[in-house]
Amino acid sequence: MTDRFAPPATAGCRTAPVLKERGQHEVFCGLTGIIWLHRKMQDAFFLVVGSRTCAHLLQSAAGVMIFAEPRFATAILEETDLAGLADAQDELDRVASELLARRPDIRQLFLVGSCPSEVIKLDLAKAAERLSAAHAPNVRVLNYSGSGIETTFTQGEDACLAAMVPSLPEATAEELLIVGALPDVVEAQALDLLERIGVGPVRVLPAPRASDQFGVGPGTRIALVQPFLGDTLAALERRGACHIAAPLPFGEEGTTLWLKAIAAEFGIAPSVVDTVTEAPRARARKAVAQAADILRGKRIFLFPDSQLEIPLARFLTRECGMEAVEIGTPFLHRRIMAPELDLLAEGPVISEGQDVDKQLARLRAARPDLTVCGLGLANPLEAEGLTTKWAIELVFTPVHFYEQAGDLAGLFSRPLRRRDTLKVGPH
Ligand code: SF4
Repeated sequence: MTDRFAPPATAGCRTAPVLKERGQHEVFCGLTGIIWLHRKMQDAFFLVVGSRTCAHLLQSAAGVMIFAEPRFATAILEETDLAGLADAQDELDRVASELLARRPDIRQLFLVGSCPSEVIKLDLAKAAERLSAAHAPNVRVLNYSGSGIETTFTQGEDACLAAMVPSLPEATAEELLIVGALPDVVEAQALDLLERIGVGPVRVLPAPRASDQFGVGPGTRIALVQPFLGDTLAALERRGACHIAAPLPFGEEGTTLWLKAIAAEFGIAPSVVDTVTEAPRARARKAVAQAADILRGKRIFLFPDSQLEIPLARFLTRECGMEAVEIGTPFLHRRIMAPELDLLAEGPVISEGQDVDKQLARLRAARPDLTVCGLGLANPLEAEGLTTKWAIELVFTPVHFYEQAGDLAGLFSRPLRRRDTLKVGPH
């Protein structure tokens, strides 16, 4: 089988200049990650130590949880708690202990920090240590920050997974560790492909349950499935694990290159990957072609939201025929992104960070066919006649690997089809 995807005719974007901006930015905070992480870790509980704003964010973003036994909550610090931090620590211990007594199913408790200054002053790492000692061995208590000052919305997952790494036991076995939370059905597809290729044993971080414990060490090979896990990668590398550099498994090309990079690390020939993936690749190609009809030749502008922007631009330009005008990312992790940047043809502005007014001015000058941005910007831009796609949907929708490649393209084609339908409809 020959590779359908030739490298870009130009040198790629690995050494392209990056426009760095440090101004006002409009993104959700890292607390948002709790919404998908609590589904993944079935015996974990996320206790946000925060304000009423944090509670409102979680309730409105994850309102569906009112129908289930919730696995996250907010311990709200009132103004009066400022009077004495010792009281706040006692209060936190009391809330956590009551929660654990009421919910014996909880095996991992995450204390999640937030923005208010009174929370920042609280030493949540100490609190986690204290509570771990009090509730061991039944419950492991960890902490991380989901504060909007420190994290954008996908970085909450990175902070959470990085917090788990130091407590993983030492191991020497040669194993593949898939890092990043995927919907269960997508994770099952990935594991099935790897098994058929002959890669194993395979572990997943985050594991569904605390008892699915695995070790990490020099034999651990890391395959990231999300681009925003730089801190987790660094924490695993400090434990001796090695990163397998590869494009992310988005689209037919990204998935194939991701699998081939892993196969090579385990001494398996690329031809084995080609044979195993022939049918799913054909399905992905067909599904993408159907959705991509309307995308071909269209110009896209991506605001910095999820850190998925560079892999998505690679997929949209190379598999769907789009032209990228600007690719914004909240943070550019050069090493993780290098294989993606190599595939991306020179041309688009690559920007890191945000100065929202300046970026809006560039957008208005470019008038792209499609703009990927946060909820706060989408409505005003639609009112200006620009067609938008909400970045947050990309994180909530299953989009990885072959079987979801058509859905991934569909996320971008739908707003354009809707726009065309509205244009030709009765006036
Ligand atoms: Fe708002 Fe900060 Fe709470 Fe996020 S962590 S909801 S940004 S106060």
